[in-house]
Amino acid sequence: IRSKSEFVTVASHQLRTPVTGIVWALQTLEGEESLSEAAKQVVSGALESGKNLLDLSENLLVIAKIEEGRFGYEFEEMDIAEFVNSTLSNVVPLARKAGVKIYFDKPERPLPKVTIDAKKLALALRNIVENAVRYNVENGEVVIRADAAESGPFIEVSVKDTGIGIAEKDIDKIFGKFFRADNAVRVQTNGSGLGLYIARNIVRAHGGKIWVESELGRGSVFHFTLPTD
Ligand code: ADP
Repeated sequence: IRSKSEFVTVASHQLRTPVTGIVWALQTLEGEESLSEAAKQVVSGALESGKNLLDLSENLLVIAKIEEGRFGYEFEEMDIAEFVNSTLSNVVPLARKAGVKIYFDKPERPLPKVTIDAKKLALALRNIVENAVRYNVENGEVVIRADAAESGPFIEVSVKDTGIGIAEKDIDKIFGKFFRADNAVRVQTNGSGLGLYIARNIVRAHGGKIWVESELGRGSVFHFTLPTD
């Protein structure tokens, strides 16, 4: 093993096989009709933890690739509204479960195309929108917008939520690795603090910027830009 990130890559791969086996077994067990209510709850809790562990190893693999500069971007021209729509469809089930509404406020006029790696950028947008759902309140809302930026040849995407917000002192830390704010840990025990670090790397690799405005207890707005030239 040559480097720290190579170690992380190998370790994450090694973890994936047994954890996949455990998740599969629990999924089978979950469908078992003879289980008592109490047992069902235990199984579904274990299943959730197993899935979180898979997500974590996936995130570690992505970060090792990013940090070694071998994340392998493949860019293509795309319509931003189509991109946002298809990414959001993957978050809708989570939002429904959480009792949070998601709206995409579509641009009024057609926007210039962006050149993106849709798969990777979808990972970034999904992390941001999933956070907007997970750190929201019951009956809360998430509104996504895409529009021409106020200055320069950029499109700006924003994700606004009505959730717990971020304390002033934490704003500069949330895009770092493994950081989770106290108020977030209180409402969501699950999380690795890696999603926004990955999102920031992906947005920057596209030549864009990412930032957040937030008010504690009121909500947050995450913004990122993508160049159109
Ligand atoms: P995770 O969600 O796994 O903790 P992330 O890297 O996605 O990791 O986010 C880092 C931290 O930023 C979160 O733990 C939380 O403290 C804060 N955060 C991110 N999105 C939001 C949001 N929409 N509202 C409030 N806090 C947020």
